[in-house]
Amino acid sequence: MKFNTKLIHAGIHPDPSTGAVMTPIYQTSTYAQDGPGNHKGFEYARTQNPTRKVLEDNLAAIENGAAAVCFGSGLAAMDAIIKLLKPGEEVLATHDLYGGSYRLLVRVFGPLGIKSRYIPMQNLEYFESQISENTKLIWIETPTNPLLQIVDIEAIVNIAKRKNIMVCVDNTFASPYLQNPIDLGADLVLHSGTKYLGGHSDVIHGAVICKTNELADQLHFIQNATGAVPGPMDCFLILRGIKTLHVRVQRACENAKKIVEYLQSNPKVNRILYPGIISHPGHEIAKKQMKDFGAMISFDLHNQELENAVRVLSRTKLFTCAESLGGVESLIGHPASMTHASIPKEDRIKSGLTDSLIRLSIGIEDSDDLIADLHEAIN
Ligand SMILES: *Cc1c(COP(=O)(O)O)cnc(C)c1O
Repeated sequence: MKFNTKLIHAGIHPDPSTGAVMTPIYQTSTYAQDGPGNHKGFEYARTQNPTRKVLEDNLAAIENGAAAVCFGSGLAAMDAIIKLLKPGEEVLATHDLYGGSYRLLVRVFGPLGIKSRYIPMQNLEYFESQISENTKLIWIETPTNPLLQIVDIEAIVNIAKRKNIMVCVDNTFASPYLQNPIDLGADLVLHSGTKYLGGHSDVIHGAVICKTNELADQLHFIQNATGAVPGPMDCFLILRGIKTLHVRVQRACENAKKIVEYLQSNPKVNRILYPGIISHPGHEIAKKQMKDFGAMISFDLHNQELENAVRVLSRTKLFTCAESLGGVESLIGHPASMTHASIPKEDRIKSGLTDSLIRLSIGIEDSDDLIADLHEAIN
């Protein structure tokens, strides 16, 4: 089955009891047993839920994994993955990491004895030199947030495999439509379903897709033992979102290209960070490992004053100033004062996150309207 068909059909069957075409929301906490232990595979809804099971089967199919495990949020999914490690073991992560992932590793797992280090992964020799005997997991984010850097997944996996280290890719920014890390050798794929999978900014959800059943069994154990499961309504919303993932992401990428062209023509715009631009240092790798270049764009202005960027953000009418990404509506954000405010200014600027950096999540509105809105706000 091809990808676009899998989105709509993989793992999904008409409901056996009624023939309902759409997977029902099984809003139940428990299931009748004919006698003790004599049940239909469902005992208690923390452990199994039919709506969640259909979503997990669908996700496994679209990311080409053996199985998937769903959670109440992207960070709950990450929390479960890090629980595969023991005190003394270490995570080596992409330097330009989602803020919540960084906070979870440093402030929750750090005190429990699981170490983490953050390094750029563009220079492979440097990357390899940073692996220690305690490195148990490599955590890749690509494209990164908000600097849109690209990591060569296959190259990192090849180094990790030689040393028997597990690799997880946070694939939230790309979505399974653009990039499938398990095909490139990754062991685990994380999604914040809140973003492109759900696609309509109406649900919080997370998932891990596993290359092997063995890893999925370990994560199902953690899912049941710690209980951060998503509700059936949330699973239904993600299933519904996935059915249009290909058309949404494709249109958003088309819009993003036109908006990049517009930004390139505006003399007030300084840097544009977008992997689709030929001069982007990760352009060739993105072309190799992604189907298209995504719908996230960051740019800054020649006038680097913070107030200048803030003025743009408060003037857009179609672009809503908000955190998050991946919905049908376009969003505009200011990393320095919103998502990355907890990073000291000096460190921020050193890594390229200037005070006037603006991040766009491009939706699927008409690109002419989006460009007109940005033009008004910037000029
Ligand atoms: C949003 C996000 C997360 C966290 O997901 P939640 O669903 O908000 O818990 C993790 N990684 C990336 C790249 C994200 O954008």
